[in-house]
Amino acid sequence: MSTMDFDSLLSQVARPGRYCGNEFNATRKDWQGARIRLALAFPDLYEIGMSHQGLQILYHLVNQRPEWLAERVYAPDLDLEEALRRHGLPLFSLESRRPLDQFDVLGISLPYELCYSNILTILDLAGLPLRAKNRTESHPLVIGGGPCAFHPEPVADFFDAILLGDGEEALPEMLTVIQRGKEAGSARQQVLAELAAVEGVYIPAFFAPRYDEAGNLLATEPLRPDLPPVRRRVLADLNQAPLAAPPLVPATRIVHDRLGVEIARGCTRGCRFCQAGIIYRPVRERDPQQVMDEILAKIDQTGFEEVALLSLSTGDYGCINELLVGLMDALAERRVSVSLPSMRVGTLTPAMMEQIRRVRKTGFTLAPEAGSDRLRRVINKGISEEDLLAAGRSAFALGWKLIKLYFMFGLPSETDEDLAAIPELAAKVLRTGPGGRCQVTVSSAIFVPKPHTPFEREPQMTVAEGYARIDFLKSRLRNKSFKLKWHDPRQSFLEGVFCRGDRRLADLVEKAWRDGARLDAWSDHFKLERWQEAAATLGLDLEGYLRRRSPAEVLPWDHLDVGVDRDFLTTELQKALAEDYTPDCRVHGCSKCGLCDFKRIKPVVFKAPISPEQPGQQPPDAAELAAATPGGPLPAVGYRLFYARRAEARFLGHLEILQIFFRAFRRAGWPLAFSLGFNPVPKVSFGPALPLGTESLTEFLWLELTRPLADHEQARAELNRQLPAGLEVISLQPGGRRQPDRLLSAYRITVPREIDPLLPARLLAAAEFVMTVRRKGVERTLDIRPAVHDMVVRAPGELELVLVQEAGRPTVKPLEAAAAVCGLGQDDLAAARVLKIWSRDEAQTPGNTPA
Ligand code: SF4
Repeated sequence: MSTMDFDSLLSQVARPGRYCGNEFNATRKDWQGARIRLALAFPDLYEIGMSHQGLQILYHLVNQRPEWLAERVYAPDLDLEEALRRHGLPLFSLESRRPLDQFDVLGISLPYELCYSNILTILDLAGLPLRAKNRTESHPLVIGGGPCAFHPEPVADFFDAILLGDGEEALPEMLTVIQRGKEAGSARQQVLAELAAVEGVYIPAFFAPRYDEAGNLLATEPLRPDLPPVRRRVLADLNQAPLAAPPLVPATRIVHDRLGVEIARGCTRGCRFCQAGIIYRPVRERDPQQVMDEILAKIDQTGFEEVALLSLSTGDYGCINELLVGLMDALAERRVSVSLPSMRVGTLTPAMMEQIRRVRKTGFTLAPEAGSDRLRRVINKGISEEDLLAAGRSAFALGWKLIKLYFMFGLPSETDEDLAAIPELAAKVLRTGPGGRCQVTVSSAIFVPKPHTPFEREPQMTVAEGYARIDFLKSRLRNKSFKLKWHDPRQSFLEGVFCRGDRRLADLVEKAWRDGARLDAWSDHFKLERWQEAAATLGLDLEGYLRRRSPAEVLPWDHLDVGVDRDFLTTELQKALAEDYTPDCRVHGCSKCGLCDFKRIKPVVFKAPISPEQPGQQPPDAAELAAATPGGPLPAVGYRLFYARRAEARFLGHLEILQIFFRAFRRAGWPLAFSLGFNPVPKVSFGPALPLGTESLTEFLWLELTRPLADHEQARAELNRQLPAGLEVISLQPGGRRQPDRLLSAYRITVPREIDPLLPARLLAAAEFVMTVRRKGVERTLDIRPAVHDMVVRAPGELELVLVQEAGRPTVKPLEAAAAVCGLGQDDLAAARVLKIWSRDEAQTPGNTPA
């Protein structure tokens, strides 16, 4: 995509920083030198996709191979999709901005069912036929992978190949096959046939569903006699696939803006509703010393202020206490917090909670899943009410004010008493606190029976039943100490349909998408009626997909082997109804689920404690940058720093720039001073916000360091190495913080047409100039005359505008002022460039502009 197209596009969309690809640590490889080019697509918005660990793991894994190239793309927001279509432009990768059809392979994540319509948006904007059968030799191979790969039939027709299971070994094997085929000039069908031989790979076109006359699925059968069974790929030992690449640091805000480190894969608890508990078996922990070393190195490489220890049940990690103590010893001083997003009741001890508190309190969440002990026995949750209350008591005693509880309703065998137990449990948890401002949030959702679980044949409740449950909870949680949240039952309905759906649903996905379905996981975009109308047109009975399935009924995922014994699932269902417990196979021995062969695949658990005294790589020493301080630390010292914001950095918002600088300071080893208090923040304050899209040669900030910088030039150079393209520190000077009272800023505005040189004089001669502006979505009138200090036409398409910024005076954006005075239209504005060329306070304080 040309720079002009790109600039014009991004000037028309919200949060354009999402499409710039200027993350720190992003990889840009030589396009021509790559033997295989892979575009990794996440079928949801950037802020969700960038929070996703799996895509980053594969991105770095592929880019580590010198001969391969991987780039990224995320689903466009509605405004970008509309702009791309209007201009006839294709969706592009973030790194090289190339159309997706120029890649050899388009790999699309399958993270959750409500992103299915976004898959079609990506395929269509890539210029690819939606259905695999319509693609030709010139098209990239479209491959999928992720949790929904285990029940892929509703989207199977859109994919050439789908990988079931871990990608660390399988993806390189697939790319090797594809590279071989490409270089040998093999036909697409031949490459697919070779891919089918890679363990874990499912080629949907090589299988066909067979139905009886009533439309009941009889089987999904292989169309070739020589096809191996499709069996999930399992990476036996995570420690054999360490990831050394520095993680991506987003330039814009994302949902989980932190360093995420997977410490284990798989869970042994055996909750009977949980698909992840089956499809990631067995538990495979990573060596705690490797985890520790990796975290410390990656904090240095990224500057993140939080690290999250990721796994399905982090508290079950064999060395969690030792790891936590070691990490906190190393990170607390650096103001880096540790979060444990998926903690199970009973595993989070008060001692661990104390460790987490050492830097900052993170959210405290408990997941009882069901209200009563009885129903928790049915789902094999393995925690009692007393366990929950003890956890609540500890959290409140340690100072948490808010406890969040997660529940499902509609679980198998649920009774009115089980439902009533939800608000009762919330009240009991609240009573474990000291009262006052303590709060309990109850989050609830309809239970969705997932394939490959003991409950895969259970029915899902209707939308109406879901709303009735929510109304009941609302009536019981009226006290202001409670907050009730719920997942939209209509979204759960569609999720359930796609979980249990068959290949006929591809028509539904396509029809609903053609009718406008987009971003269905976002409640403000989701419309169930659109899906229901599409189903009615196609003659599909969506409710039928949620019915109870008899033991004899063929399921649409029966031809895919996740490795767990089907008899194990049947037995687990029987045990559920008998409220019988299946113990944790990590502690109580094998429950014979059938996954492990105990030769290559077996649980990997670490018991030997790591030494907190040897936390791996030491924190960076700022000594090269800071002066020696004989006789003890010096008092905090302030600096004024001037920087330029050019090119793509103009698409970053003010808060995003702040975050980028905070992290760059950390990476550069600058000894930042922090505020005191519960949530310490760096003592940095920035100059006035620049309008989005405006470039500048003269931005400024103040910051406080705990020690003076020894060599300003060296420190500046190091900081510049840590900033993304477009941001550059021009100078830094010792000096305290001072906000000018009245700031003059000059802007050079370039537009693609001539400007009447007499227009500025008319404005300057006028007593007032009232125009309509839009602020936070609301239109209002504004007299801009007092804010315009000077305006002059420098060249036919070039205007110089000097604006006054004063406390208490409404802010005027340079481009909107120029547009109003010169009568610029939408096309002029889209192509305009605005550059702030100087800035000074009216008192002409020396040193407040760069040299
Ligand atoms: S085979 Fe046994 S040890 Fe392995 S995951 Fe299943 S229950 Fe656990």
